[in-house]
Amino acid sequence: MIFEILDFSHFLFFDSKISVMGVPKSKPGRMRARRRRAFLTVSVPSFSTCPNCGAYKLPHRICPECGYYKGVKFVRSAEERRAEIRAKQEERKKEASKG
Ligand SMILES: [Zn+2]
Repeated sequence: MIFEILDFSHFLFFDSKISVMGVPKSKPGRMRARRRRAFLTVSVPSFSTCPNCGAYKLPHRICPECGYYKGVKFVRSAEERRAEIRAKQEERKKEASKG
């Protein structure tokens, strides 16, 4: 017979490593879908003001403007970083004009 000739072993699920993904029996209703999507919202991050410089910053984070956290300076301030970038750019310009 034809079944003896053709190998249908890959269609059998018993003792085979083939797994089928779970498929929902029916589509979720309006209420269920809306309830699920109720949490898919974009939330506005909460801001606090820096006690050192008064700039807006994220709570429990180092202030990116002045580099202070709880009265201690941890990182360079934004102004210092800008000055460094400007100095580097001027150096590059000088090198470019020379060479
Ligand atoms: Zn600050």
